[in-house]
Amino acid sequence: MIVTSVDSFDIRFPTSRELDGSDAMNPDPDYSAAYVVLRTDDGHEGHGFTFTIGRGNDVCRAAIDALAPLVIGRDLDDLGEFGRRLTHDSQFRWLGPEKGVMHLAAAAIVNAAWDLTATATGVPVWRYLSALDPQQLVDLVDWRYLTDALTPDEALDLLKASLPGRTERAAHLERVGYPAYTTSAGWLGYDDAKLARLAQEAVDAGYTQIKLKVGADLADDIRRFALTRSVVGPDVRIAVDANQRWDVGDAIAWMTALAPYDPWWIEEPTSPDDVLGHAAVRRALATAGPGGRPIRVATGEHVANRVMFKQLLQAEAVDVVQLDACRVAGVTENVAILLLAARFGVPVCPHAGGVGLCELVQHLSMFDYVAVSGSLDDRVIEYVDHLHEHFVDPVVISRGAYLAPRAPGFSARMHADSLARYAFPDGAAWR
Ligand SMILES: [Mg+2]
Repeated sequence: MIVTSVDSFDIRFPTSRELDGSDAMNPDPDYSAAYVVLRTDDGHEGHGFTFTIGRGNDVCRAAIDALAPLVIGRDLDDLGEFGRRLTHDSQFRWLGPEKGVMHLAAAAIVNAAWDLTATATGVPVWRYLSALDPQQLVDLVDWRYLTDALTPDEALDLLKASLPGRTERAAHLERVGYPAYTTSAGWLGYDDAKLARLAQEAVDAGYTQIKLKVGADLADDIRRFALTRSVVGPDVRIAVDANQRWDVGDAIAWMTALAPYDPWWIEEPTSPDDVLGHAAVRRALATAGPGGRPIRVATGEHVANRVMFKQLLQAEAVDVVQLDACRVAGVTENVAILLLAARFGVPVCPHAGGVGLCELVQHLSMFDYVAVSGSLDDRVIEYVDHLHEHFVDPVVISRGAYLAPRAPGFSARMHADSLARYAFPDGAAWR
């Protein structure tokens, strides 16, 4: 399969009109996708995208167009090499390396290549990955900068150890699904009545964990958290998410004030680049919860690459790894991050929501369960109930769980009429 074309699209949804997705750092996002269609000489097509929240989506699209010549005319036989071709180009590398707009653009192209490969094989991506043998998985990874924490041989041993039970775990996913939690109740722009109603609906729908946005005003956060706790009771886990709002000292003080309401985790307490800051917050909150329980520290949706995840794990700075399908260089780099998390015994609870992120990350978590960590303990995939109607193969949630996708590919394809209607700036939705 030789790549013959890379077509890019600037797709934006006017979500800021309803304050869907509002939080302390992102008050008015327009959820957007810099979207890619790869085509090959034998008639196959792969779709992928990276996620942005509006302005700048055109910059990602321009970066995709700039990278396209690196893959046109190349085959898709070796997806590890395909990914490294995009991230190791000596001139483009100056713009990162492996971070920022160029890395988001690489994610879109790499994700499209995985969609194409799995579609051509006739299986969903999670199944495709879960059928690779340990050596094939190790060969996908870009090992540069990782070997002080995890070597290819150690990864091979880890993957071999989880070979037994692959079939049973895949069958469990198809029967029961993968646990989810919902963020749909807790956007910062929602009033108390809407928050209470949505929290009750989440519990009624079978969720055992929900998440609230915090970090704009402490008095508001205490009132909203107390209200939510009173609605859902003591047994539902409530995570909170500050979206990088705080300095380290503020994070510790704010979470200490919220501790009586039993936060399950604090997500993005501070800058995603501040490894030592996360470690300090984690140490300070290790016994801050009711009864001396920990308030866990979570981050990842803005962690630029596998090297940053390596440091967060080495520094014992996180309890939860929140990988993102589109922030790092797509499926291939996420295989490395799953292996690192397994090596350190830290659960992966992917970031999702946005547009299409739920569709993509379900494949990564399901692969992790079948072939890497082999565990569902304290693992949940974020779920947000927005924009799924634009996808050909949308996620299916039942009783608080993601049901395993059965259609071939990466669940990444948007309907053609959505691509037309939400094209920025000329689609009907923007005129
Ligand atoms: Mg978040």
